[in-house]
Amino acid sequence: GIIQEERLKYLTDEKTIKAVTVVFSDLEGRLHMLDYDKKFLVKSYDNLTFDGSSIRGFTAQRESDLRLAIDWAAFYWVPADVFGAGKVLVFGEVIDKNGEFYSGDIRGVLKNFSNEMFDTNGWTLNAANEIEGFLFEGVDAERSFHETGSFEYVNSGGYYHSLPGDPLREFIDTTAEVQRAMGFENEKDHPEVAPSQFEINYTYGDVVTAADQIQLYKLICRQVATQMGMTASFLPKPVTGVNGSGMHTNVSITKNGKNLFWDPKGEEKISKMAWAFTDRILTAGTDLCLVMNASVNAYRRLDPHFEAPNQIKASATDRGSMVRIPIGNEKSSRVEVRSVGPDANPYMVLYAIFKTGLQGETAKIKNLRQADRYLPDNVYTAIDDFRKAPWTSSLFGDDVKGRYADLKQASADRCPRLLGTIVKAPEVQFHHDVYNQLLWGKF
Ligand code: GLU
Ligand code: MG
Ligand code: MG
Repeated sequence: GIIQEERLKYLTDEKTIKAVTVVFSDLEGRLHMLDYDKKFLVKSYDNLTFDGSSIRGFTAQRESDLRLAIDWAAFYWVPADVFGAGKVLVFGEVIDKNGEFYSGDIRGVLKNFSNEMFDTNGWTLNAANEIEGFLFEGVDAERSFHETGSFEYVNSGGYYHSLPGDPLREFIDTTAEVQRAMGFENEKDHPEVAPSQFEINYTYGDVVTAADQIQLYKLICRQVATQMGMTASFLPKPVTGVNGSGMHTNVSITKNGKNLFWDPKGEEKISKMAWAFTDRILTAGTDLCLVMNASVNAYRRLDPHFEAPNQIKASATDRGSMVRIPIGNEKSSRVEVRSVGPDANPYMVLYAIFKTGLQGETAKIKNLRQADRYLPDNVYTAIDDFRKAPWTSSLFGDDVKGRYADLKQASADRCPRLLGTIVKAPEVQFHHDVYNQLLWGKF
């Protein structure tokens, strides 16, 4: 289309650009990056192949070749001092060797669903994510964790605490600056409740852009932290006894610019559509828990004492509930799904939330305000719930569903002996299951 023509022309004309970073995500949401020489990409963008068997959760060995198509609309300028000189970044779409849709590419699944909702109903699906993380001393603190046995905070502040020159403040400022340079519309940023914890908020977007921006946010944070000799961690609960990190997912639907979740006369000022959406999410709460809380460590976080939810209910105020209805107005009215960890696959999370909210089963729950069920408190129960649920087959198909559950099972099985162990260090307590996740890469 026109966008493709424009971008190709831009790449050709812009002599300072030497390489194009093409990114895509595997089934667990890990970001993969390939740098193509610009001249090669401009010539060969419609014939890019890669070995899918080396990407966990993608293809079996015997059918290893996959193709990459370029999503020219998801194109980002990247600042040279953080990403290296002469590069731009673009999102890729994984397709099979015949150029057909590949069901393991959850970004594609999300995009198709979003397009379908727009074509059939005129709906735009919107999301805004509040992504929390920790900043620790030392480059690659997560990987060296099993040798050092602890994480070191970079400051001892707390909510909104920031002094000029503080390393956490400098990290937040630099990250926010990179985001602006990449076209994020930032709103507010601050140190979070736990020491050395941060949150940098930017505006909502359509679901595909929102999911892409989650991947970019984590990439930018990690890159900036590394340059400062520190580590940005998106483990849901790296340290015991203090708040964990969430990725609250705020969702709404607009039609012709009108927010369909807003109703000034509705209960909590949200519409019947928004309540039905909430009902379906709560009904599927345990089915979807593995999608939203995708690691052993994520279940450490789900503790209402630390503002993280385990109660399957909706509330305007209680931060221990899976869904919260924040104070809103015509523009900002939304529902907030709180039970999402920052290490989940963002494409899967957003697809599951919207498809379930719009097409899942309703009315299993009599009183949405009351928790008569709780989310699983460990990953094994969540894996069982996910496998048993007919709804997850409708969402992903049995093949992708099975592959995803198997990956999570394998990851959980890597540290059975350590499960439940809490190691006490003088300053900081942490969960030993952190280790399991870290040896296998970052999400
Ligand atoms: N850190 C909390 C969580 O794990 C959330 C705190 C907040 O409401 O911002 O979800
Ligand atoms: Mg927060
Ligand atoms: Mg929130």
